[in-house]
Amino acid sequence: MKHILVIDDSPTIRISVEYALKKVNIPIRQAENGQDALQKFRDIKAAGDDVALCICDINMPVMDGISFIREFRKIDKFTPVLVLTTESEQDKIKAGKEAGASGWIVKPFQPAELLGVVEKFIR
Ligand SMILES: [Mg+2]
Repeated sequence: MKHILVIDDSPTIRISVEYALKKVNIPIRQAENGQDALQKFRDIKAAGDDVALCICDINMPVMDGISFIREFRKIDKFTPVLVLTTESEQDKIKAGKEAGASGWIVKPFQPAELLGVVEKFIR
């Protein structure tokens, strides 16, 4: 079974992403920072499952989004990673791409907008 991994230190954002993606019908796992996400990714793999997509915040304690993408790309080259950015973090998009991000979504997002982008990546 495939999962979507939602990585954000804000529980409100994690819940709103989960809500926006209800229609996708793929189980969602939440992580609160990059390190937590790497552990959850390993747990999912160890259970014989896989990750279809990561949706990742930039600013997080313990391990930020750019560091997460760099570490994640060492163990997984192809699973898409969508970055959640704010208007004031436009410079992070370039850093995210260089680290191996596949796309980005600007917060605050409309549920339908997020769903549209996610559907492109999991097809
Ligand atoms: Mg954050």
